[in-house]
Amino acid sequence: MSTPEPTIFERIVARDIPADIVFENDDIIAFRDIAPKAPVHLLVVPKTSEFANIAELANGDPDLLAEIVAVADKLATEQSNGEYRLIFNSGESAGQTVFHVHAHVLSGSLDESSLGR
Ligand code: AMP
Repeated sequence: MSTPEPTIFERIVARDIPADIVFENDDIIAFRDIAPKAPVHLLVVPKTSEFANIAELANGDPDLLAEIVAVADKLATEQSNGEYRLIFNSGESAGQTVFHVHAHVLSGSLDESSLGR
């Protein structure tokens, strides 16, 4: 059986490619999105590549999903005013480009463009 190509996020976890990392523990890494859509735009990513999207994660490891939400909330408080939009794109037609589940944390003054409309 062939091994699938690592996603860009697995490569960031492995320090294979650089990222502006703002948080890390045993389960989760968070870093700044390379193409920010808001004054603060972070990605909160589980280190495991087992789950492609939020439904898979919610079914497979709800505690890890709760941990992602807690990290997002903490980082939005540390890096902004504690108010934020949490987005999980699920599926290509919904804008998902990296099929390794991740939360977008958008904070700061948000305009219509950051709503993805
Ligand atoms: P999505 O489109 O929901 O799958 O989100 C993927 C996000 O990853 C996009 O917002 C990209 O800008 C971001 N991204 C892609 N490559 C990198 C990278 N090397 N470092 C930081 N963010 C990245």
